[in-house]
Amino acid sequence: MTTAPEGTFGPRILALADHLAEYSDSAHGLTCLYLTLAHRTVAAELRRLMQAAGMEVTIDAAANVAGRWRSDAPGAKALIVGSHYDTVRDAGKYDGRLGILAALVAVEALRDEGRRLPFHLDVIAFSEEEGVRFSAPYIGSSAMAGRFDARLLARRDAAGFALADVIRESGLDPAAIPALARRRDDLLGYLEVHIEQGPVLLAEDLSVGIVTAIAGAVRRKVTIAGEAGHAGTVPLALRHDAGLAAAELILFVERRCQASPGMVGTVGQLGVPNGAMNVIPARCELSLDVRAGDSATLDAAMTDIDAEMARIAQARGVSFESEEVVCTPAVACAPWLQQRLAAAVEGAGVTPRYLMSGAGHDAVMFDGLTAVGMLFVRCGNGGVSHSPRETITAEDADIAARVLINTLLNIRPDHAHE
Ligand SMILES: [Zn+2]
Repeated sequence: MTTAPEGTFGPRILALADHLAEYSDSAHGLTCLYLTLAHRTVAAELRRLMQAAGMEVTIDAAANVAGRWRSDAPGAKALIVGSHYDTVRDAGKYDGRLGILAALVAVEALRDEGRRLPFHLDVIAFSEEEGVRFSAPYIGSSAMAGRFDARLLARRDAAGFALADVIRESGLDPAAIPALARRRDDLLGYLEVHIEQGPVLLAEDLSVGIVTAIAGAVRRKVTIAGEAGHAGTVPLALRHDAGLAAAELILFVERRCQASPGMVGTVGQLGVPNGAMNVIPARCELSLDVRAGDSATLDAAMTDIDAEMARIAQARGVSFESEEVVCTPAVACAPWLQQRLAAAVEGAGVTPRYLMSGAGHDAVMFDGLTAVGMLFVRCGNGGVSHSPRETITAEDADIAARVLINTLLNIRPDHAHE
């Protein structure tokens, strides 16, 4: 256990998050997009902070800031602890950065307490997770996980600059990205501290929670074709109303998701193209976003939703067209990492609370490559994130850092085989 007194880490994390938030692409608020001046300045700041903590640091070809707290154990593997330093537009200060800063203060504590680990601790500030500038998320973590799609290098941002050119102009070599891929045999695991970006921990008055899985997601565009008609003259029984078919489907999605704990379903877009007040909807377009903590649960729900569409189509004489635009499998967090986190959470006086992550994180990229674990930290203001209203307390940041340090001190290289 760390011997640092309570309150050692929280105020420092918050002060550093404030400091990093001074670098923004916009005059007001925090925006830090991939390889802008603000982004490159934050990378340089992170490198300076990591070096001062005693790490060996490089900024790699994808602009990840990679620090190593080296182990002197022979044949040591590496445990990656990281998160991202890019932001969305008009962002909060903690999304991503909290995880980097918690890892940074953890290394500072290890240094101050004269502790060495039986594995290399690789603190990685991933360069890009949000996907704002090039409409491509996970640029940094996909590179390190060996999943970078080289076709993206030709993609242009809104101003017409190609990703490859932007990387080159930053003094980095896009041709070196494939070589960033980490090898399975060299890795012990991957840990990420992240703000929850939701209200669960806040509602239950808990500082931190242990992530069991990162939700798999299916997104579809659904089009329903019915038949237009006069709103006054066509009797209800003779209608083929695409709007009513949509209404039935939306309510079914809610009911079906309620039946599986943790599952969520959202219709975020809903429209009657060319609709009019006095015309029966001939067409209805809606979006469908369904997420669950394991892929079997998600698949089962989608099968039921498909069956319900068929039933509604039959009953109402309408037709459904459904186009899948996103399908990402769920990522299960490794039980042994959950256990180590839970022990440290309990040690910090917090009841272990296990929860699913509905949002994607850099951790997703490491699924299948190494064991993945995540710790969530309570988000204030109702759990709002991707907003300047995003907030955490110094107390919670302190507990998160403490939990991270004690988890690291409790991990042995052979745990990876549990
Ligand atoms: Zn994030």
